[in-house]
Amino acid sequence: SLTSFPRQIAILGATGSIGSSALDVIARHPRQLRASVLAAGSNVDALIALCRTHRPDHAAIADPALYARLRDGLAAAGLTTEAHAGDDAIDALAAGNTCDTVVAAIVGAAGLSSTLAAARAGKRLLLANKESLVLAGELLTREAAAAGAEIIPIDSEHNAIFQCLRSCDARLEAGVRRIILTASGGPFRGRSRAELEGVTPAQAVAHPKWSMGPKISVDSATLMNKGLEVIEAHHLFNIPGARIDVLVHPQSLVHSLVEFIDGSTLAQLGLPDMRTTLAVGLGWPQRIESGVAGLDLLSQGRLDFEAPDLDAFPCLRLAWQAMDAGGSAPAILNAANEVAVSAFLQGRIGFLSIPALVEHALSTLPYVAADTLDALLAADAQSRQITEAAIARLPHV
Ligand code: NAD
Ligand code: MG
Repeated sequence: SLTSFPRQIAILGATGSIGSSALDVIARHPRQLRASVLAAGSNVDALIALCRTHRPDHAAIADPALYARLRDGLAAAGLTTEAHAGDDAIDALAAGNTCDTVVAAIVGAAGLSSTLAAARAGKRLLLANKESLVLAGELLTREAAAAGAEIIPIDSEHNAIFQCLRSCDARLEAGVRRIILTASGGPFRGRSRAELEGVTPAQAVAHPKWSMGPKISVDSATLMNKGLEVIEAHHLFNIPGARIDVLVHPQSLVHSLVEFIDGSTLAQLGLPDMRTTLAVGLGWPQRIESGVAGLDLLSQGRLDFEAPDLDAFPCLRLAWQAMDAGGSAPAILNAANEVAVSAFLQGRIGFLSIPALVEHALSTLPYVAADTLDALLAADAQSRQITEAAIARLPHV
């Protein structure tokens, strides 16, 4: 059970930015927390190195071709960690009895299957993989509730809201007037659309406040990240989109706010370091050390707020539209964005093609009901296909 120690934690996406922050917090609490499962996509050497340090019971690599390298590397390191490979193996470990807590930190729709497996198995789910909520939010939250899986959001904004909502007993719909998601504005805040024309992948991933993986860094630069987060908030907190606002806050110290019907607004503040949100998830309802210093507001000096620029950053508007349309529209949005961001990072398309490609997918594909996983995965596949085809027709950058 969750109150028994040590907690046995599966980290899916262990070699990534969130994975490394999670392992940092876990290593600070050797008596209470233990990484029992580590899983990654294809970086087998990094996974073996993590196994040397954290000595999990199981290690899994998504790419089946890398199984022998993982198994032999673990043996050569003198570890008893059992090697696994393939998506099904990761799902089975997420649902299996060698963990009670799952950190869902795989990037993109690739994380949906293991996230769902953990939810269906009733695990405590520390959910960083926002794309799974965008793609299948209704299904995922329904299955988690049915299985008694407790979802603790790890995305900093949603983790802030989670904390603020613990200030009252009232049902959410009754007591909350609105949720205000803060956004840093990304590396290109203040630029016009024309000034975004020639920006490079290196400029886009150089986030001013947060150190993150490449995909979410580009999403922060386009503001698609905030769009995905609006949809994420809608599903996590069961609140209509009309009651979710976005406020640009360049210092990234106020992580989000909740306004209640009595006029109170609560916010959560802290330095921009994901170890804080992971510590909330790993320790909840206890507070545990994360390695993150407290906030010195005097030295920070000021907190600024401004409205997002939807003309320069149309991805945020597109995400609102997809959420309002419902059904498979968010799945289409998410898949087109993943393909476009990957093409941008590979230097195959320009920055402004990202919103253009997402808009193309949303205006070309039909929106269908999103009540089954098969329907959602089909929408995801179709959107990837037509976006790849559209990229092939684009003039090259
Ligand atoms: P990252 O690129 O640094 O790491 C991604 C991890 O996923 C790696 O371990 C990689 O091996 C693994 N992976 C990739 N494809 C896989 C596959 N098919 N199967 C299994 N594993 C696979 O990304 P990140 O920045 O750590 O982000 C992870 C998730 O957390 C994303 O959904 C992101 O939106 C979310 N998130 C990240 C941050 C942050 O600060 N980095 C903040 C909020 C939310
Ligand atoms: Mg966030």
